[in-house]
Amino acid sequence: AGHEFSAVRAALPQWVEESRKLTSRGNVASYIPELAKSPASALGIHLLNGQGEHLTAGECGLPFTMQSISKVFTLILALMDHGEATVFSKVGKEPTGDDFNSMLKLELVEPGIPFNPLINAGAIAVSSLIKGDGPEEKSARVLSFFRELAANDKLDYDEAVYRSENETGHMNRSLAYFLKENEVLDGCVEEVLQVYFRHCSIRVTCGDLSRMALVLAFDGQDTLTGKTLIPRRFVQIAKTFMTTCGMYNASGEFAISVGLPAKSGVSGGILTLVPGRYGIGVIGPALNRKGNSVAGVDLLEKLSGRFDWSLF
Ligand code: GLN
Repeated sequence: AGHEFSAVRAALPQWVEESRKLTSRGNVASYIPELAKSPASALGIHLLNGQGEHLTAGECGLPFTMQSISKVFTLILALMDHGEATVFSKVGKEPTGDDFNSMLKLELVEPGIPFNPLINAGAIAVSSLIKGDGPEEKSARVLSFFRELAANDKLDYDEAVYRSENETGHMNRSLAYFLKENEVLDGCVEEVLQVYFRHCSIRVTCGDLSRMALVLAFDGQDTLTGKTLIPRRFVQIAKTFMTTCGMYNASGEFAISVGLPAKSGVSGGILTLVPGRYGIGVIGPALNRKGNSVAGVDLLEKLSGRFDWSLF
């Protein structure tokens, strides 16, 4: 394993520069106006092992918002708050093959219940399950859980991205009202959306993502402190959704080309892990047509192919 770590260290800088060339084929997300300001040619990676040794390359210090990556961890928090039976009465377990904000198939699992917790409709339903007295307390619980997983007390919201998405999130608003109409959401729709937009706007670096991913790689244990942060069963559920739905409707392709549980976000972040070995955070804001970091996916393909990381 030490041998592999050295080999990754030796290869990484050059592979980042090779993958970076693909950024010219992608586009930064602009439907959230604030995200359009992201640096299109950036690519960075942070890889962390269970002993706390890390490797970095490219713009690994670039701050970005978690966006859809946060959905993995709000799902886990909702499972810790309520257990499986309650959570899966509000959201299904199946991939969709649709864009992440599609309304088309919203009703197909059971009347009104979104297909899975990683599409927007499903994640909004999950946000409504977070325990707390009002949206501020719910958001504070989410933030403190994320800070614990990232081992970073400084993790916080990007207020500009939050406001930008709140002002322009008409599709998410319509999804949420549709869920309300179908009695999937309890309580005030605007308050649920506040919790949802807030967790999407939590600002991180690749290092934070790698630390959060490492907890998943070790079945809920923080190997660096010895604490259990997540029950193993809920990590298993999260990793399964990451594998089947984590890269939107390119999840099947990614399972073939990389073969690791992963979750991407429209900011260009990717969180992935090699079970029992590494937590990995990647940022590359230029996205391919499926909404995943074009250079980030390419870099992970190189790594997984060369070091035989595919689980399959
Ligand atoms: N906050 C974003 C949205 O709801 C998250 C989407 C994403 O990263 N795919 O549109």
